[in-house]
Amino acid sequence: MFCKNCGAALDDNADFCPNCGVAVNQDKLANDQQKTATNAIAIVGFVLSFFIGLAGLICSIIGLSKAPQYNGKGKGLAIAGIVISCLSMILSLSLFAN
Ligand SMILES: [Zn+2]
Repeated sequence: MFCKNCGAALDDNADFCPNCGVAVNQDKLANDQQKTATNAIAIVGFVLSFFIGLAGLICSIIGLSKAPQYNGKGKGLAIAGIVISCLSMILSLSLFAN
C-alpha cells in the first residue's frame, strides 16, 4: 500500500502515513468508528419507552435493526425498550379504560 498523499510506502495496517501524517485506509477508519460508535437510537428508544410508549417502541425497533452495524451494541437495550414500551402502552391503556 502507498500513501495517496505523498506516495510513501506504507504498512498495510497503517492508519496514518508516517511520512506526511495524512490519514490513510479511510474505509478501515470509518469502519472502526462505526464499531466503536454508540447505538444512540437504541438508548433514545429505551428512554422514550418510559414516557411515550409508541415513540419508544419505534425507536427501539430501529435501534434493534441497526444493532448489527454497531457490532451488536444496544441490542439488549433495544429489546428492553420494546418490552418496556409495550408494557407502558398497556398500562396507559388500562389507566384510560378506567
Ligand atoms: Zn504520506
